[in-house]
Amino acid sequence: MRNIGKMRQGSNAKKEKLLYVETFGCQMNVSDSEKIVALLKGIGYSNTHDFSLADLIILNTCSVRAKAEQKVYSRLGRFKGLKKRNRRLILGVGGCVAQQEGERLLASVPYLDIVFGTHNLHMLPELVLAAEQGERLSQTAFLDNGTRLDLFPAADGEGGVSRFVTIMQGCDNYCSYCIVPYVRGREISRRSVEIIDEIREMASQGVREVTLIGQNVNSYGLMSPDEPDFASLLRLVAEVHGIKRIRFTTSHPKDISQPLIDCFAELPRLCGHIHLPAQSGSDAVLARMNRGYTRREYLEKISALNAARPGIQITGDMIVGFPGESEADFSETLSLMEEVRYADLFSFVYSVRPETRAAQLPDDISREEKQLRLERLQARQREMTLERNRSLVGSRQELLTEGVSRRGDQLFGRTSGNRIVNFSSDPSLIGSMVEVTITRAFQNSLLGEI
Ligand code: SAM
Ligand code: SF4
Repeated sequence: MRNIGKMRQGSNAKKEKLLYVETFGCQMNVSDSEKIVALLKGIGYSNTHDFSLADLIILNTCSVRAKAEQKVYSRLGRFKGLKKRNRRLILGVGGCVAQQEGERLLASVPYLDIVFGTHNLHMLPELVLAAEQGERLSQTAFLDNGTRLDLFPAADGEGGVSRFVTIMQGCDNYCSYCIVPYVRGREISRRSVEIIDEIREMASQGVREVTLIGQNVNSYGLMSPDEPDFASLLRLVAEVHGIKRIRFTTSHPKDISQPLIDCFAELPRLCGHIHLPAQSGSDAVLARMNRGYTRREYLEKISALNAARPGIQITGDMIVGFPGESEADFSETLSLMEEVRYADLFSFVYSVRPETRAAQLPDDISREEKQLRLERLQARQREMTLERNRSLVGSRQELLTEGVSRRGDQLFGRTSGNRIVNFSSDPSLIGSMVEVTITRAFQNSLLGEI
């Protein structure tokens, strides 16, 4: 690997070139892609949404399930032709697949120029300048915690009234099925002073809603004696002038503390929604998943959240077909869904991931059975989501108006509980809080009237 730290920046750094970024996976990647765009602006790249025009294509990848990983290879295959037609095109892969595969990716994809890992975003401008000179490079070394803290990337999104703010990175939970701790590294909490400064700056630019993001936000600060815990951080954010709404994702059920539950009762700016993945309703499966809570403990936390904020909307993640999941275990997952009545659920078929502990267990449920369970679960969830949405018809909801709807003839905003509402009004309302009456409910959205 080349020592990029010693490289001189190319003389064509000032010429404008076009960058196309494609993002796979979670909010962390969405946020990292914003940072990629901002970093590469510094060496003359401006963003395009048309890859056929690009001088540089970056795939920001996800490897949480095998399917997500395969998608990256098929996208790379698609860009091979482009690269043949335009030899100056630079192709880069970042994110979790890059971290996992490193140099192997460069070896197996001969037309790939750059591979950069999850701790190496800040090196991207130098890597790109080197690739402009014909180098092929891979940089996936994990950084030590001190360096990571100093390099914690600030948000770089532009415009909009709602923005992500990264508060922590990595994960120490080692759920037995999950690759995240291996590709994102150990958990680290960003300095609270920087978080608050960034949110203040956003508020001064017109941002009205922030979503605090991380793999496990509610363990924020637990390993950093000088930092507040997550509940105290929320209270600090709630004091920032101009910020009207606070959201966060993702939380781990074992780290839902009483002070955090109290925030839902006491902070009106904290939205009435929590994404709290259970992954399974069966104690035996939860133990094999190394989740650190039982079904009863999960349900107790849900009750406490419902009591603290009546009407709170709960969403979650569920995995079906984990090794050894019996029909009885799966029924427990279905019955957990009935008890919680999720507003929405992201559900996945278990996928074996390299290095994880579950990869040692026999993947003993047939693909057909896993698929069948997923379809049963999703069919029931669709009914519950629609019921939940219909129960809102006739209610008055406060929305933050976020922009023009997809169809282009209405505005849209989200309720405090994170349901999307389309309504007719004047675009000058974008950025304002409005009150609407819900008039119709659909599967994925609501219709409202001011
Ligand atoms: N940190 C979050 C948490 O603990 O809930 C989620 C992070 S993960 C990127 C998002 C979701 O992917 C998980 O909640 C889980 O449902 C799913 N997931 C992770 N590993 C998986 C695997 N090997 N197979 C299927 N789904 C998986
Ligand atoms: Fe993966 Fe578990 Fe960490 Fe979530 S908490 S990122 S599922 S290891």
